[in-house]
Amino acid sequence: MNRRYRKTLIAANWKMNRLPGDCRDFIASLREYAAGARWCDMILCVPYTHLPAAIKAAKGVKVAIGAQNCHGEAAGAYTGEVSCRMLADLGVKYVIVGHSERRAMCGETDEQVNKKLLAALSCGLRPILCVGEPLNVREAGAELDYVRVQLKMALKGVDERSLRHVVIAYEPIWAIGTGRVATPEQADRVGETIRETLRSVYGARAARGVSILYGGSVSPENAQQLFSMPDVDGGLIGGASLDADSLKAIADAANQ
Ligand code: PEP
Repeated sequence: MNRRYRKTLIAANWKMNRLPGDCRDFIASLREYAAGARWCDMILCVPYTHLPAAIKAAKGVKVAIGAQNCHGEAAGAYTGEVSCRMLADLGVKYVIVGHSERRAMCGETDEQVNKKLLAALSCGLRPILCVGEPLNVREAGAELDYVRVQLKMALKGVDERSLRHVVIAYEPIWAIGTGRVATPEQADRVGETIRETLRSVYGARAARGVSILYGGSVSPENAQQLFSMPDVDGGLIGGASLDADSLKAIADAANQ
């Protein structure tokens, strides 16, 4: 991480877990910790149904609430979907776009991810854009090209001013929920490539201001080494974020 230019972020992704009623105690247990966390900001991304409870519980707590998905259109006949305007109106600050689980299970394309990201920005939400390669691509040694393409497609139409609001999460698919974490060097190499790609499109100043997170089996045991790398500015945490103590232990590694 490089605190001179960008924020260190710890973003929790609860995925489809817990109940709305769990938000109050969970967020209350972060209150004191988050208030004293000088060097990292905390974000909690919960299912849609949990958002009102999470936002209420987070009043006066230094934890920003995020959604895990959004629709790319502003309104219309999209049964079951939720727009960015609706999320922003609730008080949501961040939204995950392009998570690999949605790309794989819901068939989300790079074009759709791009639309969602643009929609989020236009409503004042900060998108957490997920990119990352599957195992066969990593084994073929093609992960850097793969991520470059995903990144460029997702950021189509994003100007330099808006880029400031984008957070990028490198999440190798083979590391998500598997217990097989990327090495700090692997995470940093892709982080560096993401920053180089941003630099080539937006220039050095804009590129160095973007927080690039690593996600994939981050735990209290491996967090410190990962976050010590120059192009790893924190983490997107799935399984380990369901327990407040483990989330705090991971945040500790980012808060040094
Ligand atoms: C995720 O869902 O974004 C994630 C990184 O999950 P996990 O930490 O469980 O691998």
